[in-house]
Amino acid sequence: MNIDKLLNQVEKPTRYIGHEINAVYKDLERVKLRYLHSFPDVYDVGMSHLGSHILYGVVNEQLDIYCERLYAPWVDMEALMQKYDMPLFSIETQTPIAHFDVIGFTLQYELSYTNILHMLRLGGIAPDKSKRSADDPLIIAGGPCAYNPEPLADIVDVFLIGEGEALLVDFLNYVKDNKGVLTRAELLVGAAQIEGVYVPQLYDVSYDESGCISAFERNDSRAPEKIVKQIVRDLNTAYYPHKMLVPFGSSVHNRAVVEVFRGCTAGCRFCQAGMIYRPVREKSVETIVDTTSKILEETGYEEVALSSLSTLDHSGIERIIEEIMAKHEGDKVGVSLPSLRLDSLSVKVLNDIQKVRKTGLTFAPEAGTQRLRNVINKGVSETDIYGTLEKVFALGWQRVKLYFMMGLPTETMADIEGIVEIARKVKTVYRESRSTKKALSLTMSTSVFVPKGFTPFQWYGQEGIATIREKQRYLKEALKALKVTYNYHDVYTSRVEAIFARGDRRLGQVLLRAEQLGCKYDGWEEFFDYEKWQQAMSDCGLEIDFYANRERGQNEILPWDHIDCGVTKTFLQREYDRAKKANVTINCRERCVNCGVNGGMLNGNCKW
Ligand code: SF4
Repeated sequence: MNIDKLLNQVEKPTRYIGHEINAVYKDLERVKLRYLHSFPDVYDVGMSHLGSHILYGVVNEQLDIYCERLYAPWVDMEALMQKYDMPLFSIETQTPIAHFDVIGFTLQYELSYTNILHMLRLGGIAPDKSKRSADDPLIIAGGPCAYNPEPLADIVDVFLIGEGEALLVDFLNYVKDNKGVLTRAELLVGAAQIEGVYVPQLYDVSYDESGCISAFERNDSRAPEKIVKQIVRDLNTAYYPHKMLVPFGSSVHNRAVVEVFRGCTAGCRFCQAGMIYRPVREKSVETIVDTTSKILEETGYEEVALSSLSTLDHSGIERIIEEIMAKHEGDKVGVSLPSLRLDSLSVKVLNDIQKVRKTGLTFAPEAGTQRLRNVINKGVSETDIYGTLEKVFALGWQRVKLYFMMGLPTETMADIEGIVEIARKVKTVYRESRSTKKALSLTMSTSVFVPKGFTPFQWYGQEGIATIREKQRYLKEALKALKVTYNYHDVYTSRVEAIFARGDRRLGQVLLRAEQLGCKYDGWEEFFDYEKWQQAMSDCGLEIDFYANRERGQNEILPWDHIDCGVTKTFLQREYDRAKKANVTINCRERCVNCGVNGGMLNGNCKW
């Protein structure tokens, strides 16, 4: 069966046809290594991932390496592929995935893990790496979830720890030069010599009677004891994809993206990204403005998002906005900021970029009381919240979403009541300061807190289902009475996320079992099936509570202890202790607080 014949039977054929603006096509005769960059979710989501655009571009700069793309096929396409016995294929050349030298998965979210196994199976590659042959592609993975690689150690051959641009090309060149020369085992040992490369099969794990890790040891002395994350040191000179791919159909974020800096100094204690992407590295105003012009020209987009973990923290943000607006105002280019702070700078910048169209605004106070915001080190005060909203309402905005987390360490019902209190006060502020006759549209959303490795809360046990549901019920009723929309995140998906976020190597068998049971697209409500996960855990003799709800001992060996992300365990422990006392730690842009990521700092930019 020809692939083209399937396309008129699926909902969105553009997910599979390639040939988008800026897609790369190479003469295969001149290619020495074929790499398949894979996003374990549907095309529409994967095309919105900036990191994938960067890696696609940077690998394809290499003349003799060809990077193609793969996304999880949506269920309609998958059913057809199975019906016609067609193996999963790449986007660019529609080559079966088993024909590639290396397949790399980006790990953005724990609930996409079963899709990885499923995609391999659809491509005729055994998900269990012990069942693969020497001719199978090497399976590699990177991205934020790779900082705890252990749950995928039975599936993935090689993990790249750190930023892809700093590692992937070197790794692929190494494979290109050595494939066919070294055996697969030798190739893996050699790969482990590259800084930032983790090869799990070179390490053994043992467990004590309580199920905790008793030892994590190398079984080959050539493997490094610690795997140190690799980073791009200067983003001004680093590769950036001006020729960003433009999808035919719409993706989740349909606009150009310009990264303005990496890292974050705020020190929110729940935030893994804020720890693993340290230190802060800003791009210069000139680079950002220049990149924006080039990317708009190469893609034809009319909107650009200035992206980072906290864009308004860029030291030159006002100049960046002014210069972009001045340069592109005539072309009606819109500028968007993915994250806003609750402060006066946000108001000023918003006023500059949304003079005409007042879109909805999203803020994240994260917790309902000042005490709990201090615990999580979210530097937002009541004055910030109401002062900012007063100004934006006066300027004409009337659609606001506020995000909170539930189940945070030390949280009590008083903190949940605090969320209702905020809703009440926001309504009052709107009544008193609005400049439009339109009614306020206020949405309050809560997610369930998932403790992550490499954060000060990495030891904390996730709150149990019953308490979370009780809190959700309370908010549902209280906010309904206030006529405020309330959205909340499913507690069961957060529980499975918590298992894998801090899980160990034994969870590889659980993934294999869950995939056999039919788990896939677990991040999608319509496919998630908690009972299957319960069964997979129990079939493997493991308990959910042990992984999700157990407070880890301070001296316990954590599954990711062999990964060095720069921030030290001592710093994280110190921050956890301060959290319990609701002590705030300052933004290290003001003064270094010795997180360990390096020995010194200069105005927010650590020197490596
Ligand atoms: S080394 Fe100091 S300045 Fe740099 S990220 Fe860590 S705490 Fe902040």
